[in-house]
Amino acid sequence: MRLPCPICGDRDRREFYYQGHATMLNRPSADAGTATWDDYLHNRENPAGETRDLWHHEAGCGAWIVVTRNTVTHEVSGAVLAEKAKT
Ligand SMILES: [Zn+2]
Repeated sequence: MRLPCPICGDRDRREFYYQGHATMLNRPSADAGTATWDDYLHNRENPAGETRDLWHHEAGCGAWIVVTRNTVTHEVSGAVLAEKAKT
């Protein structure tokens, strides 16, 4: 699989570290409570179809990007810098 880094262009997936669903960008506040933090840290969805995931280009430019891809067809339809992504 190749991922389209907005800075470097198409690169092999092995250059990236997978962080999880892009909702990881919606970090709870420090005083959100243990139930909210437990859900944020441990519970994940496993959707069949289009998803938006957070990846780190650790063997490249070091950018955090949000990749839109389909978990059924494995099609990658785009990527944006995480700082510009809305979750
Ligand atoms: Zn890059």
